[in-house]
Amino acid sequence: MFCVECGREGPTTGGLCPACFARKHPLVDPPPHVDVPRCQACGSLLVGSTWTRAELDQAVPTILRAKVPGRPPFARVRFTHVAREEDANNFALTVKASTSHEGMELVQDFHTRLRLKPSLCDPCAKQRSRYFEGIVQVRAEDRGLTPGELRAVRTFVQARVDRAARESSEFLSRVEATHGGLDFYVSSNALGKVLARELASAFGGTLTTSSKLFGQKQGKEVYRVTSLVRLSAFRPGDVVRRKGALSEVTKVATFLVLRDLVSGEERRFRPRDLRGAVRVDAERFAADLEPADGDDAVVATHPETGAQRAVTSRGPLKRGRAVVVWTADAAFLSALPGDPSKG
Ligand SMILES: [Zn+2]
Ligand SMILES: [Zn+2]
Repeated sequence: MFCVECGREGPTTGGLCPACFARKHPLVDPPPHVDVPRCQACGSLLVGSTWTRAELDQAVPTILRAKVPGRPPFARVRFTHVAREEDANNFALTVKASTSHEGMELVQDFHTRLRLKPSLCDPCAKQRSRYFEGIVQVRAEDRGLTPGELRAVRTFVQARVDRAARESSEFLSRVEATHGGLDFYVSSNALGKVLARELASAFGGTLTTSSKLFGQKQGKEVYRVTSLVRLSAFRPGDVVRRKGALSEVTKVATFLVLRDLVSGEERRFRPRDLRGAVRVDAERFAADLEPADGDDAVVATHPETGAQRAVTSRGPLKRGRAVVVWTADAAFLSALPGDPSKG
């Protein structure tokens, strides 16, 4: 077959070779410029109707497919391109559009300018407006959070929110230090609930939630859920009196583990089951244990005051160095490391 236009030999459609066919039937109408909104805060690009974190160069073919439709009868047009940066927001694009049509590969080359338009993506716009749904309050029972706990809780929440932000458009709207604790304002109630549950189990606390209607969004009622995580009054190492018995707290997580200082037995408690327990002033240090007058008894010597006290824990007491808990009127063996500033 010969092309009726240029006389070249080869396959034809309607008497035209691919080159003449493409010239007579352009694949696309090249636009003078293609505008792409880019978030000023996070760099996301609006491609079609979605914000994406993709690199500009990788997003260009998708952007072109959305912005430069194929002319009938060409429904599926592919694009390859070369971009030359003119300035931070303008790129000269050399584009090759191609499609298959009745067994022919048709191509059309054109130039256009891609212009980045400063904008704000939906998550960033919400964040800037301090939007929030879920509130997570972290407090401790009968005390303020320690500086270490404040740091650890903030780090924990930030890491969890960062993870959620990568998977969906969640964000932390703001954090407020208040009433000896922290308030976290987060983008959704679902995130707030997950955070609260994970905080309660990681730091040992009870969890209560309440919700309040605060408005409508697209015809749906929107609630704000407040989750209160109340950390235990007790921390690892605390000595507590419960029902007349003294214990040391060896672990604080979903459950608290209390070790009886006399019997050495450990028991697990839910934080709320320890409401009646009180903290007792005590020191913990490594001391030398020496035999006392009695058969099995040993005495511990306070490393600073030199005071001596019989160790009243049950079981075989070895002589030598051991960590003891020292209260106002007794000494016990401890299962925890001593305070490094003593002994
Ligand atoms: Zn031709
Ligand atoms: Zn953004």
